[in-house]
Amino acid sequence: MLRMPPSPASGRRARDRGRRLCFRRITADYATLRESPLASDVLAYDCLIVGAGFAGSVCAERLAGRGSRVLLIDRRNHIGGNAHDCLDAHGLRIHPYGPHIFHTNSKRVFEYLSRFTAWRFYEHRVLAQVDGRLHPFPINRRTLNGLYGLDLDEAGAAAHFERVRLPRQAIATSEDVVLSSVGHDLCEKFFRFYTRKQWGLDLSELAAGVASRIPTRNNEDDRYFTDTFQFMPAQGYGALFARMLAHPRIDVQLATDFSDVRAKRLADQVIYTGPIDAYFDYRFGALPYRSLRFEHEHVDGVARYQPVGTVNFPNDHAYTRITEFKHLTGQQAKGTSIVREYPQAAGEPFYPIPRPENEMLFKRYAALAAAEPHVHFVGRLAEYRYYNMDQVVGAALALVDKRWPTPHN
Ligand code: FAD
Ligand code: UDP
Repeated sequence: MLRMPPSPASGRRARDRGRRLCFRRITADYATLRESPLASDVLAYDCLIVGAGFAGSVCAERLAGRGSRVLLIDRRNHIGGNAHDCLDAHGLRIHPYGPHIFHTNSKRVFEYLSRFTAWRFYEHRVLAQVDGRLHPFPINRRTLNGLYGLDLDEAGAAAHFERVRLPRQAIATSEDVVLSSVGHDLCEKFFRFYTRKQWGLDLSELAAGVASRIPTRNNEDDRYFTDTFQFMPAQGYGALFARMLAHPRIDVQLATDFSDVRAKRLADQVIYTGPIDAYFDYRFGALPYRSLRFEHEHVDGVARYQPVGTVNFPNDHAYTRITEFKHLTGQQAKGTSIVREYPQAAGEPFYPIPRPENEMLFKRYAALAAAEPHVHFVGRLAEYRYYNMDQVVGAALALVDKRWPTPHN
């Protein structure tokens, strides 16, 4: 059930921003959500959930299914968190917060989400522009052949990597990961400057986990992900979330910040999926996050803007990548819609920044969180983890199973 409070200033600003991109959002996303008056009595709900992204929405659905009355709030004017999608002014489905491609090896996560959506098979492919030409990324045999004018087979590619790699004593940073797998030249061409743009940091200043997301391949596999399940929700993420939350025991209140309801004691359990440092009023200082500015553009009369879903620009431009949504959604139209991602320090907290000092600061907040028995912290911002969507779904399912066990788990 969905309720929007009467236009507070912040809500109005968020709505105006949203309207610029999402003209048909309400009908497209919320068709299946029923409206109902919000209960505002003390302990009117069993659980208050802060944040309507994957973490909060999965918890809401699971708890409602177990008989709990749930209030789900989000300070934005839509459900779905950063996975939110909508139709732009030209009727093309776009992702306002950057491209979201679903992939997982978890059968449990895939089967769980399949209750709320049909799927469209989609394997993401990425090309990187280096020295004015487009090359497959992650780096594979064809990348080597195209870049260096070689004709290597798989064994030849393996031998090439073996020759150029710079083995490290220990793998601690992202630089260690890249140099030990592809060596200096490929590191400079594909990783060093993309990383500096994306994070404002050198590879050597980031934990190994960042660059470890990108494999190196001897073969010709040019898929970005090799997960068992690679699909996009057939009617978009908005429809998936709307179905997930269309439960009579779930009330959804948008454009509502936690601070608006924190003192009201509407429920005696809280699931919090926002930034953990904000929950504790930045007591130990702000945790660093990386943000992005998204530049959306519709290109008229062009059926295809680029050959694959995403083109990366490691060395050129202030943006890191351009994504063309039609590849992801399979929509047919005369024009096409794209997004450029410009990394920046200030703005919405999109990426936790994986490095040891940040992890230490997070651990101090995590210790405070552990001392709050009625508040449960889950999700990319609350756990300060560079999670993909499927990992967030998995973490939310695990939290509910652990804290609200049923006879079946
Ligand atoms: P979020 O989606 O961030 O949801 C948290 C919600 O909490 C937000 O809606 C926020 O408004 C709300 N909130 C925060 N504080 C408060 C408060 N005080 N009061 C009320 N509400 C509050 N993952 C993939 O698997 N594949 C991809 O291709 C992919 N691409 C990505 C591209 C980009 C540019 C980004 C930034 C992320 C991408 N991800 C991708 C990661 C994915 O977005 C996250 O894993 C997932 O959406 C996180 O879900 P969440 O619920 O933890 O957080
Ligand atoms: N990366 C890079 N060059 C690229 C793509 C990725 O150096 O062309 C590095 C960069 O540090 C990036 C990380 O690999 O932040 C992870 O990339 P991924 O595409 O997984 O990032 P996300 O989609 O989460 O932004």
